[in-house]
Amino acid sequence: MNYPSKLIEAAVQGFAGLPGIGRKTALRLVLHLVNRPLEVSERFAESILQMRRNIRSCSVCGNLSDDGICVICADARRDRSLVCVVESVRDVMAIEATQQFRGLYHVLGGVISPLEGVGPSDLRIEPLVQRVDEGEVQELIMAISPTIEGETTIFYISRLLQEKSVQISAIARGVAFGGELEYADELTLGRSIATRAPYKTREE
Ligand code: ZN
Repeated sequence: MNYPSKLIEAAVQGFAGLPGIGRKTALRLVLHLVNRPLEVSERFAESILQMRRNIRSCSVCGNLSDDGICVICADARRDRSLVCVVESVRDVMAIEATQQFRGLYHVLGGVISPLEGVGPSDLRIEPLVQRVDEGEVQELIMAISPTIEGETTIFYISRLLQEKSVQISAIARGVAFGGELEYADELTLGRSIATRAPYKTREE
């Protein structure tokens, strides 16, 4: 595509670098901004900069946070004995949307995947063991995608914690469609957490 302006072309390239946005859509967004007052672009750019510069990971659970501790961990009404272990921040958001879980979270940052070079030390597994060692957590609910990598991750964590006095549960398999937890509808996801079962390894 020939652009009338290098400035427009650079902005289109910026938008087109985002997931799910092709060049056509990028151009539409850029032209939209051109036709709106300057303040619209200023507020937009400023919100992205502020977010990117100041967003942090919660030091307890790994959720995204404006402060050192996220709003969920800071909420005194939450059940601190119950921790839902998830792969990503998007999973936290999906489970929160069900409004059926009143415990805390632990974000692993992925799953164990030898093929993609992701080992246990690349994930927030050690901080999870530390949380369990602190003694307040009584149950870990593994809300991990039911893929081979997900199963491997649950198995690894359960072995690591088997000598400790913490119950490990897995969410009901009803979430299995597509294997992507974040796409499970809210009702199914909420129900699968409510009807979780004690996790058993195949050897047992
Ligand atoms: Zn947190």
